Amino acid sequence: MSIIIPNFEFEIIKKHAAEAFPYEACGGLLGKIEKDSRIVVKAYPAGNRYGRITWDSFEIEPKDILGMDKLCVKEDLDILGFYHTHPNHPAIPSNFDVNASWPFYSYVILSVKGNSMDNVTDIRSYLMADRVSVPVEEEVIIK
Ligand SMILES: [Zn+2]
Repeated sequence: MSIIIPNFEFEIIKKHAAEAFPYEACGGLLGKIEKDSRIVVKAYPAGNRYGRITWDSFEIEPKDILGMDKLCVKEDLDILGFYHTHPNHPAIPSNFDVNASWPFYSYVILSVKGNSMDNVTDIRSYLMADRVSVPVEEEVIIK
């Protein structure tokens, strides 16, 4: 599997990542699955319920999950996964990420080191089939 993120949507994610720093940014990735690829059509920046500075844990606002669902129905898309940032930490799933993961979804993690979009230094995506296995990295294609 690979996940394909259009440039324009990637810019939205990077902007969100930079603006939220030093807090974790999080959001949804809506799109379609075609053969072996997950094709992102829309990035959906969401609120993070955790009001404290973290790098290893976040929680998407429930109202934003509802918003994603509504948009998916309206535009015939599926929630393919979620993105979030690791401020000042590598783009590797934390124990929290693994424990909070759901099968099927892509978990895109961005490492961010400051408030500028240039400070997004790494992007990786993982599938976490269950909550005990090692996360499996999938290819991220920005185009
Ligand atoms: Zn994380």
